[in-house]
Order: sequence, then C-alpha cells, then structure tokens
Amino acid sequence: MIKTLGHISLVFVLVFLTACDRKPVAYHEQLLVFGTVVDVKLWGVKEAQGRQAVARLADDFAYMHNAWHAWHPGPLGRVNQLLASGTSFTAPPSILPLIQRGTVLSLRSGGLFNPAIGKLTALWGFASDDPPKGPPPSAEAIRAILDQRPDMEDIRLDGIKMQSDNPALKLDFGAFAKGYAVDRAIDVLRELGIDNAVVNAGGDLRAIGRHGDRPWRVGIRHPREAGILASVEVEGDESVFTSGDYERYFDWQGTRYDHIIDPRSGYPAQGLSSVTVFARRADLADAAATALFVAGPDEKDWLPVARAMGITGAMLVDDEGQVQLTPGIRKRIYFEPSGTNGQTNVEIHISAAL
Ligand code: ADP
Ligand code: MG
Repeated sequence: MIKTLGHISLVFVLVFLTACDRKPVAYHEQLLVFGTVVDVKLWGVKEAQGRQAVARLADDFAYMHNAWHAWHPGPLGRVNQLLASGTSFTAPPSILPLIQRGTVLSLRSGGLFNPAIGKLTALWGFASDDPPKGPPPSAEAIRAILDQRPDMEDIRLDGIKMQSDNPALKLDFGAFAKGYAVDRAIDVLRELGIDNAVVNAGGDLRAIGRHGDRPWRVGIRHPREAGILASVEVEGDESVFTSGDYERYFDWQGTRYDHIIDPRSGYPAQGLSSVTVFARRADLADAAATALFVAGPDEKDWLPVARAMGITGAMLVDDEGQVQLTPGIRKRIYFEPSGTNGQTNVEIHISAAL
C-alpha cells in the first residue's frame, strides 16, 4: 500500500540460482517499497537477466510510490490541491491513467470502491504514517463530507485538462494503486521477455506462467493468526489480492475501526475480517477486494458487486472466522491444518457461482 514508508529503501535480500549463469532457471529478489516487501520470483531466466529486470522494477516502483502517495508531498498532493481549488489544469501523466481507471472501477463497484473519498480517509486519521489511536471523528464532521457526495464523476476531463466541480473531492488511490503497480510490473517483465513470474507485494500478487513443471503456489494470510490461512495454486495469468481489517485499524471502546471506509455511511466497514479476490488484472482484484469488504458478509450484498466487477473468484472471512468461497476456487484451495488432527477446522460455505 502507498503509505507508512517515509522513505524508500531498496534492500537486496537474496538471490539464488540453481545452476550456473548460462542455464536459465530461478531468480528471486525482494524489494522494500510501498511500505511492504515486494517479492519477485522469476522462472526460466539467466541471473543477469533477472537482476536487470528487478532493477528496472525497483526504479518503476520508486517512481509510482512517489507519484501516488496520498499524504506525502508529490504529484498526487498537487493534483488534490488543484482539484480542491476548482480551476482547470493539466493532469500530470503519472496521475491521469489512475483517474481514468479508478473511475471505471468505481462505477463498476456501484461506488463501494470510491477513490474520491480521500477527505473521509484523512478524517479518520488513516492518511498518516502513524496509525490513528482514536477517538473516531464526530458524526457531524463525517456528515459534512458525505453531504457533498464526492465521487469520481465530479472530475471533468477534457483531453489532458481536468477540473473538479466538487470541493469535497480528494483522491486517495490507496485501495488500488498497489494493484495498478503490480500490473505495470508484469507488463515490464513481459516486455523483457519474461513469461514466468510472480510479483508479490506483501501478499497481494499477480502470477504469470508457471514455476517450471508445476503451477505457482501462493499463500493467503490468516486474518487473526500469524501465518497463512490457505494456499492456492495459480498459473497462466491471475491476480490474488486481499483486503483486511488487521493491518491498519484502531480499537475504541470495544469497537474495531479499520481503514476501509463505507462511502455510504462514512464509517469503517464492519462484519468481515478479510476478503481475497481472484481476477486477471491486479488493479481490478485490488479494487474489488476493497469493494467486497465494504459490501459485507451477506452473500446477497457481495455477490452482485463481485459479478458487476467481473472478478473470477472470491474468499470472504467474517468476524467469526467463517469462510465463504466461490465454487471455482474451492477446487484449488488448500486450507492449512489448524487442529491437532491435521485437518482444518474452518467452517466453509460455498456461495452461488459468480
Ligand atoms: P490494504 O491496504 O489492506 O491492501 P485496501 O486495498 O482495501 O487495503 O485499501 C485500503 C485503503 O484504501 C485505505 O487505507 C484508504 O486509503 C483507501 N480506502 C478506504 N476505503 C475506501 C473505499 N471505500 N474506496 C476506495 N478507497 C478506500
Ligand atoms: Mg484494495
């Protein structure tokens, strides 16, 4: 996520090769960016090729982190100032594509994913390097923003000129910028002739191709315990993104207030502890994970949003630890044993098909 990190450090952690430089095999490197570890695994590359590719990704990620940061000074901050002023201005090339894509995804989500609600996320204290401690903002302050109904359609685009009609609109790309960045990383790898790769940004990933003679295997984090809840095999081209209430939140008088805000009420979404979305594109998976989290645990609420957004699968874990899965995912997901009998004790409900 584009947050928490005051500076960018790219840390070379480890490179392993299972053969000499001439024989292409596996390449693995980790970067620290977006306030998280970005783990890049490549298959079928030579070491020099792998190193060059990851260096290119590191440059691109650093650029994107700076351009899209929601509260550090930079291009998005300047755009937000100009939008609030109501004047017409030239959209920076680093920001324009996210506005366009964000508008499409927001419409498809029925407004549950709404990157125009930056004033609300800031009001709740989540636009900060340090997580908020409470108390929650006043109902009046929330209402004052909601009454102005900020949404992406308030932005008027005319070629590269843009203008906002709504002073309450403030862009926050936090719910899909990581996905957008992972998509760009996969584009770059393909341009460089790399067709087997996983780009995993803190558990949110897109995988292409395979790991040699087997699919890639990836873990989905447990929302309430250390370690993973389940693992799943991915191959071909697929993204797996999770939104949860366990990383950025505060507890106040017995209630957990997490960083995903329901744009209808102005309050943090309740009822779920995590949502994992499967889709080809990472930006869609990221936006949809947020939208489904807002929709809530009732199948009649989240399923229509999942269908409208065009995702391929979903797993939702509610506050009590009950799991809902779309049927296609059931076949290829493996739940970690959690009891002494070596079996999982999660309660799984299979939803209607997408
Ligand atoms: P994670 O950081 O766990 O990957 P998300 O992808 O769901 O979570 O992004 C959450 C972030 O998106 C919040 O920190 C906030 O900046 C922003 N946000 C919160 N609620 C919404 C919403 N309903 N629509 C769009 N962006 C949101
Ligand atoms: Mg998201």
